Amino acid sequence: MHTRSPRTRARSPPPRPARALSRPRSQRGPPPPPARPREPRPPPRPAPRAVGVGAAVAGYGIYKYATTRVPSSGPYGPGTLPADAYDVVIVGAGPSGSTCGYYAAKAGAKVALLDKEVFPRDKYCGDAVCALAIHTLRDMGVMQELEAHGEAHYADSGGFVSPSGICYIGRSEKKLGEAAAAGVKRINLDKRIAWKARDTGCDLKERFEVTDAKFDKGAGMWTVTAADNKTVRARLLVCADGATSRLATKLGYCTEAPAGVCSRAFVKGGTHNTDFDGVCFYQRESLPGYSAIFKHPNDELNYCYYLIPTGKDGQCGDVKESDLPRLHNDAIKKDPFISRALGPNAEIERMKAAPLRLGGQGLRQNHDDHLIIVGDAAGHIDPLTGEGIHTAILGGKAAAEVLLSMRQTGDFSKRSTAQYNRKVDQLFAHDFFASKLMAQAIYRAPILMDAVASETQRQGDPMMAKWAEVMTNMRPKTFFLRPDIALNLGYAIVREAIEQYVFRKPDRYAEGGSVVATYNA
Ligand SMILES: Cc1cc2nc3c(=O)[nH]c(=O)nc-3n(C[C@H](O)[C@H](O)[C@H](O)COP(=O)(O)OP(=O)(O)OC[C@H]3O[C@@H](n4cnc5c(N)ncnc54)[C@H](O)[C@@H]3O)c2cc1C
Repeated sequence: MHTRSPRTRARSPPPRPARALSRPRSQRGPPPPPARPREPRPPPRPAPRAVGVGAAVAGYGIYKYATTRVPSSGPYGPGTLPADAYDVVIVGAGPSGSTCGYYAAKAGAKVALLDKEVFPRDKYCGDAVCALAIHTLRDMGVMQELEAHGEAHYADSGGFVSPSGICYIGRSEKKLGEAAAAGVKRINLDKRIAWKARDTGCDLKERFEVTDAKFDKGAGMWTVTAADNKTVRARLLVCADGATSRLATKLGYCTEAPAGVCSRAFVKGGTHNTDFDGVCFYQRESLPGYSAIFKHPNDELNYCYYLIPTGKDGQCGDVKESDLPRLHNDAIKKDPFISRALGPNAEIERMKAAPLRLGGQGLRQNHDDHLIIVGDAAGHIDPLTGEGIHTAILGGKAAAEVLLSMRQTGDFSKRSTAQYNRKVDQLFAHDFFASKLMAQAIYRAPILMDAVASETQRQGDPMMAKWAEVMTNMRPKTFFLRPDIALNLGYAIVREAIEQYVFRKPDRYAEGGSVVATYNA
């Protein structure tokens, strides 16, 4: 006989209760009242809000698709380039132009890389090369060459001094797992990148001072002309000619002169007292600008003074570009922190200076048909820190990637070059707005910098490492809004406000700070 297994039995449904209908007729209740005719259901009400939101989302999706769609084919595909022309002509072989040239040539593009100077050539700069640049330079093999020639000094000990003289100098490399920056003289950095681009296949033409560029729409071809009337033809023009960008100005993309400025002076190794790798000094008078000392190999220093614009009227906080020589030279003698770091015997180079175009200032657009603008020419300098080597390098690489994809599709129109704008936005330009806000905030409320400094003194190197990450663009400025950081900073602001406004804590900058340093060399 077939028996069910206990498992099968366990699964069988429980016995049903006896149905009311099976009861005898006498025990049944009164018959149910006749069912009332159902009222007709009201027609479903339209949900106007849901429909509106749906339409808006769909509309935005269609708009986004329509405006960001990249053509998959065009008239200038492989095999269409005339023998005497290049895929790209890059005007300016600084970090942005040479990086663009390197990555384009490495992938097989035909590249003309033009510069009015002959490498090695000097470039006035603070020489602090941030970690994001170091990563790409390593990928290019440039960092290895700089190291092999003893031309890079990785920063470990560093910090900053706040407007009321609260100072913290600590170590960040251990916490970050890498140096936040390296000191590299631009004469060495730019030479190594340009030569790397040349050795990878770029046609590096030096003493080629570009005076004009004309676009032939019918042929989809640029003709770039030098001062001595030599010409170069190419499908794509990359403007990488620096902050004053004569070319982008001539072509009408750049409409203003750069609004920021920075000085530089080298200090001879062995003549100073500096024992840290990099410190920024936020003097109250020139906020949101600051001065800085960065260390190079061979104990040399770079002393520089950044003036960061805060308005359209040429103002950099309460000072102007014309104040730079006074601020630069006074700080060497009178700033207690700087004069102590330099000492009485420092052999200091005469001040040099160059403009800064920050946060895309004065640029109508950074791309067009067959055209991309990179680096300082595009205003790709962080509007809070004045640093632009890493953004130049990242932007140069992004431009090369876009060129390579356009070479495949054959479309060099603005729709295709717009990919470059989206890339740089994603890489770093999204942070420019927050940087500008922070610069304004520091200018209007210097107590914010005091609070950051006092919080850094309280927490030590972990907070210093976070500050270094944000100031070198390893993290966006919004990192400070993370609850664990924002709460501590908020508390520090309240603490400083009470100490400064209620207990009248004195400004100690002039006498060399309340706490000089927590760094032990
Ligand atoms: C004083 C100072 C301090 C700075 N400190 C720092 C710092 O510490 N860290 C940091 O990250 N950034 C710093 N910056 C910013 C940094 O220097 C720039 O962001 C960076 O140099 C941008 O590189 P680039 O290739 O776009 O332009 P550039 O380095 O300016 O290169 C432009 C090139 O174009 C060439 N050129 C110009 N016109 C023509 C022409 N008509 N024809 C042919 N070639 C031409 C030039 O010769 C040059 O080689 C500082 C800037 C200044 C001024």
